[in-house]
Amino acid sequence: MTAVPAYIAANATDPMTLGTIERRPVGPHDVRIDIRWSGICHSDIHTVRGDWGPQPYPLTVGHEIAGIVAEVGSEVTTHQVGDRAGVGCLVNSCGDCTNCANGDEQYCLNGSVGTYGATDRDGTITQGGYATGIVVDADFVLRIPESLPFEASAPLLCAGITTYSPLKHWGAGPGKRVGVVGFGGLGHMAVKIAHAMGAEVTVLSQSLRKQEDGERLGADHYYATSDPETFTALSKSLDLIINTVSAPVDVDAFLGLLAVNGALVNVGAPAEPMSLNVGSLLGGRRTYAGSMIGGIAETQEMLDFCAEHGIGAEVEVISAEQINEAWERVLASDVRYRFVIDASTFTA
Ligand code: NAP
Ligand code: ZN
Repeated sequence: MTAVPAYIAANATDPMTLGTIERRPVGPHDVRIDIRWSGICHSDIHTVRGDWGPQPYPLTVGHEIAGIVAEVGSEVTTHQVGDRAGVGCLVNSCGDCTNCANGDEQYCLNGSVGTYGATDRDGTITQGGYATGIVVDADFVLRIPESLPFEASAPLLCAGITTYSPLKHWGAGPGKRVGVVGFGGLGHMAVKIAHAMGAEVTVLSQSLRKQEDGERLGADHYYATSDPETFTALSKSLDLIINTVSAPVDVDAFLGLLAVNGALVNVGAPAEPMSLNVGSLLGGRRTYAGSMIGGIAETQEMLDFCAEHGIGAEVEVISAEQINEAWERVLASDVRYRFVIDASTFTA
């Protein structure tokens, strides 16, 4: 075992503190990565704060990891020392079930293993990327194209794939009118990716405060959800809406913006349940759906797509001691548009 510096949550409420966590020795199928950049996802906050249930503290979160391969196991042929490597939300799955066979490891029937707070197949609790190093099964390590700015690539490992996957599944492309609700970490990636896919993109943010950014990043239209007129102006006009909001929203109001056969896809994962009036679905053969991250092959496809289209996240680089403050800013919707931790700042 090797101890690496990390930010650690002792419980659901106290600020995280600098300490060390253990990483396993590199096994035959493992890759050891020196972490360079680690994105802050709202899911990190939901998890530590207990929004989704009790957690196995002490816990280190972070699942948007970009680094350099430092060591590979004897049987690893897919990654080499010195390569750029990424780790997203998954570090293991059974590899045998129908869903794994289809490349949907995130829906593994025997339980996929999340990058943090999950019980790995060796019985240990996984610890995430707010750290200087990680050891991961080679099958769950992504290749980060050299042409992408390195720090801007980290958020692609969660925010990128979580928006790419449903946009692709529901056919975002030329002639499709795509709405993006919430213009934060996931939302800004949804805008960039949907635009690159050729869709007509409409942002639905709480206010018009970030409108210029939205248009610069690829939005064709930008509306404030605080203005009731928005819901009249856009009534029945969108084919696909990706809801990235971290809090409950008025589902019926957004369903009302869908044309016939339209789909509202929730990727936001608030702690509280949301209700809907089924009439909102019936009056337009509409679908209300959800989507969780994406499989490993699709994540690689997304990284290559982003490299081809020159798409990285808009990042604000922070040092380790700013992590707690950055969380408060994420909770206040004050992020443009992803905080990324510089892992060289973890040393005390
Ligand atoms: P984020 O950066 O905080 O963005 C969320 C955005 O939602 C905010 O920027 C804000 O956008 C809007 N918002 C926040 N509170 C709101 C409220 N009370 N009412 C209306 N709008 C509000 O968070 P994120 O990292 O993008 O994550 C978003 C959600 O997706 C979280 O719940 C996260 O856990 C979830 N998530 C899910 C998956 C998955 O696999 N499905 C993966 C990653 C994350 P505006 O300022 O533009 O209004
Ligand atoms: Zn995430």
